[in-house]
Amino acid sequence: MSSVKCKGTTKSGAKCNREAGYSGYCHTHDPKAIAERETQNQALKLKSKLALLGSWG
Ligand SMILES: [Zn+2]
Repeated sequence: MSSVKCKGTTKSGAKCNREAGYSGYCHTHDPKAIAERETQNQALKLKSKLALLGSWG
């Protein structure tokens, strides 16, 4: 069984050397995982914004 390497690249532009999952990307570069992380970040940002505005009652 040969392990598949991730198709993504690191921040420095080098090829990612991690083992890839189903998507052909490692956990860090999996588009799905990235989208999920971004959604979480957005939610966190929104929360802190609302907290700043004092909209929580
Ligand atoms: Zn990767």
